[in-house]
Amino acid sequence: MDYVVAPPIRPTLPVVGTESRFPVRRVYCVGRNYPEHAREMGMETLEAPFFFTKPPDAVFVPEAPEGVVPYPLATHQLHHEVELVVALARGGTNIDPDTAVERVFGYAVGVDLTRRDLQHEARSQGRPWDMAKGFTSAAPCTPIRPAESCFKKGFGGSLSLSVNGDQRQSGRLEDMILGIGELMAALSRLDRLAAGDLIFTGTPAGVGELVIGDQVRATIEGVGELAFQVAA
Ligand code: MN
Repeated sequence: MDYVVAPPIRPTLPVVGTESRFPVRRVYCVGRNYPEHAREMGMETLEAPFFFTKPPDAVFVPEAPEGVVPYPLATHQLHHEVELVVALARGGTNIDPDTAVERVFGYAVGVDLTRRDLQHEARSQGRPWDMAKGFTSAAPCTPIRPAESCFKKGFGGSLSLSVNGDQRQSGRLEDMILGIGELMAALSRLDRLAAGDLIFTGTPAGVGELVIGDQVRATIEGVGELAFQVAA
């Protein structure tokens, strides 16, 4: 096949324990899936979580041991949101929430980086969130750990994020308003899910600002740890 410009490289993620990689098709994200985070974002009454997307090429693994995430353009308020990432082996429509997890290939630790100033501006004007959520390098992520080697004690556990050694975010996966199966069921009523899809499952309370030089460490019990430095 000949192309008129160099074809974009399909984003992929490493998989723990193999040389094979996970090809990223779409990146779905859920907003306000933890009650305490919804409250800190100014929601007085809890509404159903909702969805948005990031472009697949926003996903990348900061190189070990202490990778680098570039500070994005056009913001003075870059925020961190630690999230469990679900990687799908199979998709479909109208998925049954009770059997949805059979379609999960594995899990990863991700950070939904957010240009909060642009998001607040968009929100106040009733405009889309794309520019707040979908910029280059907006979704640093660990390699994917196959599901059979995650959550050895059953689904659940703590997720947390520290900046320069100070804990900023902490929560428990069990506190998600929509669990993994319910998220997949809800998304699959909106659109056909497929192999290669990632779902960022929402963040607990404690989101806050990152500045150049910050050392970030995001940990999810039973899944892994993502460490990076914010660079100019
Ligand atoms: Mn988020």
